[in-house]
Amino acid sequence: MTFLPSILSDNERLTLQRLVAEAKNVVLLCHQNPDGDAIGSMTAATLLMRRLGKTATPIVPNNYPDFLSWLPVNSDILLGDRQHRRVDNAFANADLVLMLDFNGLSRAGQLLADKLAACSAPRIMIDHHLNPEDCCQLTISHPEMCSTCEVLLRVMLDMGWTEGLTADEARALYTGIMTDTGNFAYASNRPEVFQAVSILLTTGIDKDKIYRNVFFSHTEGRFRLMGYLLYEKMEIMHELHTTLITMTNEERMRFNTKNGSTEGFVNIPLEMSGMKLSIFLREDTEQEGLIRVSTRSVDDFPCNEMCSRFFNGGGHKNAAGGSLKMTMEEAVQVVHSAVLAYREVLRL
Ligand code: 5GP
Ligand code: MN
Repeated sequence: MTFLPSILSDNERLTLQRLVAEAKNVVLLCHQNPDGDAIGSMTAATLLMRRLGKTATPIVPNNYPDFLSWLPVNSDILLGDRQHRRVDNAFANADLVLMLDFNGLSRAGQLLADKLAACSAPRIMIDHHLNPEDCCQLTISHPEMCSTCEVLLRVMLDMGWTEGLTADEARALYTGIMTDTGNFAYASNRPEVFQAVSILLTTGIDKDKIYRNVFFSHTEGRFRLMGYLLYEKMEIMHELHTTLITMTNEERMRFNTKNGSTEGFVNIPLEMSGMKLSIFLREDTEQEGLIRVSTRSVDDFPCNEMCSRFFNGGGHKNAAGGSLKMTMEEAVQVVHSAVLAYREVLRL
């Protein structure tokens, strides 16, 4: 079926085999503010565990955007910040926890991080973020890969679990690969990405429909908010090839849009010729006085380094984020200092 080389050592394969064989009740988790790769990998892993005869309970720290609700398993996913009793039961019964698309307990949010730390079941991390924390019995971390869905498919190939790969599993995996590469616009130069996709397509999935489900599913409010932000709220630092967009909760509500409906906005300014860095600041919808930071870049500009130096965060080279406990006005000042600190590379 494939010429893709193995990514697991013999030891890792045996450990994974044993942990899965010994488990009956598997809890699956992804990171806070889940995106297509988080939900896609968690969904695929849930379906896989059920195919292997396990009881699988997927949990998200908080709700995720509507454009992912068409995915299978959607109605089984527990909301960590709302369904406390069912989440506690799932952890109490768990004999294995799969952590998908995040590299450390805290990225599941405080509430779930505490429950995760208190749960005695062994943990397996399957992820592609840099610098994984040492917090699991088995850590399968591949930052060179485009998405956790790519990592998961490679793990499934190594374990022989792709024998019997279902179209629903393939749809979920394709969703993560497609969204984390911006429909193959970035982080997708490795030939293995397309070999992975070609394996998924053999199950007969309609990838064009998945594209429409995810990218052509927005509300009028999102469109009007996008127009407003680009027209009224975008500062362009022409000499530094950098843009900054800010959005308050009042503005978000004025356009009747929910959490998650601004997903992807930060990418848009990079479509302007010559732009190198785009920064998006938005007020957190739950925590007052917290500003969420998203950054995107092209070529070699290190968003992750900037986010860890200035915004209490991190991430990938071309896509990173963080947060600031301050007012929007103060956060804008921090952004200006951060951009100035990189003026030599941004000016070129
Ligand atoms: P986004 O801008 O879509 O929220 O995040 C882009 C990427 O930045 C995420 O995939 C994640 O790797 C990283 N990221 C976002 N927020 C944080 C944060 O608060 N801390 C760290 N370490 N990484 C973050
Ligand atoms: Mn991801």
